[in-house]
Amino acid sequence: MNKQDTNIFKAAWTYDEAPESTDHIQIKKIYELFIDGKFTKPIKGNYFDTINPATNKVIASVAEATTEDVDVAVKAARKAFGSWSKLSGKERGKYIFRIARLIQERAREFAVIESLDGGKPIRESRDIDIPLAANHFFYYAGWADKLEYAFPNRTPKPLGVAGQIIPWNFPLLMAAWKIAPALATGNTVVLKPAETTPLTALKLAEIIQESGLPKGVVNIVTGAGETGASIVNHPDINKIAFTGSTGVGKYIQKAIAGTNKKLTLELGGKGANIIFEDAAIDQAVEGIVNAIFFNQGHVCCAGSRLFVQESVADLVIQKLKNRMETLIVGNPLDKNTDIGAINSKKQLQTIENYIKIGINEGGEIYQPKCKLPKEGNWCAPTLFINVSQSHRIVQEEIFGPVLAIQTFRTIDEVIEKANNTPYGLSAGVWTQNGAKIFHLTQKLEAGVIWANTFNKFDPASPFGGYKESGFGREGGLHGLKPYLKFE
Ligand code: NAP
Ligand code: MG
Repeated sequence: MNKQDTNIFKAAWTYDEAPESTDHIQIKKIYELFIDGKFTKPIKGNYFDTINPATNKVIASVAEATTEDVDVAVKAARKAFGSWSKLSGKERGKYIFRIARLIQERAREFAVIESLDGGKPIRESRDIDIPLAANHFFYYAGWADKLEYAFPNRTPKPLGVAGQIIPWNFPLLMAAWKIAPALATGNTVVLKPAETTPLTALKLAEIIQESGLPKGVVNIVTGAGETGASIVNHPDINKIAFTGSTGVGKYIQKAIAGTNKKLTLELGGKGANIIFEDAAIDQAVEGIVNAIFFNQGHVCCAGSRLFVQESVADLVIQKLKNRMETLIVGNPLDKNTDIGAINSKKQLQTIENYIKIGINEGGEIYQPKCKLPKEGNWCAPTLFINVSQSHRIVQEEIFGPVLAIQTFRTIDEVIEKANNTPYGLSAGVWTQNGAKIFHLTQKLEAGVIWANTFNKFDPASPFGGYKESGFGREGGLHGLKPYLKFE
């Protein structure tokens, strides 16, 4: 560390609390299922609690959909498909634009509820999740009346009823990724949010009701894995779109084998973030922080494996440690917070278990001296050095703020190391040399590769995986195709 760096480090700022106001949000005590345009009680009358992971206190009680409820939802979606699929693209687009505008109007409310229910920092839900969700609806609204231009000389037709299952790390954004292209292409939807983060999808249901979207076009059924399985196994569903773990993805692929159901799978990842000696080092350090600590590391495309060229490894690691000392872990609703709450107790246990494995396998751990709140689920940002390709924390997805660092000397070596994973979702390359970037983007087996940045998303740009990270693309023109057949 040079002298200047030491001084900056010592003079680290302290911040006053800056909590986002919760006055403007409305959360009901009980949420029902959204089926056929109405909020409906579950047939068996069961409810589960959704919890604030920063306090472990109950926020609301949410209906649990059983196979019977899923069946009612699929029937509503099937009935709605008849007229929705015949509506002109221009008319369909109008509804989707309306949903996008309503999300924008209520963006502050959505942001606070997303942070309360899932634990992510308000800065991220306010500046990333919610605006991107609105953008997805805007983007696909624009395609609704241009499908013939998207696929010239072909006649695109909707598939029918899409069953969509999403995880807890980007609740509203994942709902938008699923619903927007399905509606633009004339399909109807039965969507299941994750058990720990159902609230913004249910708020979206309120907006959908307000938008006047014909009843049954979007149905939202809450519940846990069994509700998801009821969607997967329903005989009258034409397409399953799943985002979640590779384990459940494999189960789904087996479950629908031999049926006519179409499938897209967006699964896990173990992204390689590669720093060359000629990179802009300070920017790269910020990029490392963003790649692994964004959303507590609950990011499928997180840069959880860092590869630093040997000649700059000491410098990069020291600068990274200094930067980690300044990260603020705590109240997700505080605008200063960099790292919020871990989404659930179960996920915290998983992460803590991996940290133990890393130590037991001989990795050298570093965590900054941050103070963690007493209540709630928290994990300090963590890095490991002295690990190699065979370590479990290098091979397996942790889905938390834990970074495994290795070094390399040559381009060929880093390509081989980066591709030595069952996953293939994302990668990042940091260098000032454009030719090197193009060389690596050809060789790295990853669906998304960022150059001199990380974790940047745009509705116009396709996203998806290779190998055990799944197949199919969401976003962009590519994202329309999985919802269409061509006659
Ligand atoms: P998960 O356990 O696979 O759950 C995903 C969704 O599937 C949840 O709604 C879950 O319900 C439901 N589910 C669970 N068992 C099911 C079954 N047997 N049949 C049908 N649905 C079932 O994954 P997660 O822990 O929520 O999410 C983390 C994983 O998602 C990570 O591996 C991450 O990499 C991946 N992910 C991938 C992407 C991508 O685009 N590639 C994006 C985000 C996350 P409940 O949770 O309500 O029980
Ligand atoms: Mg919750």
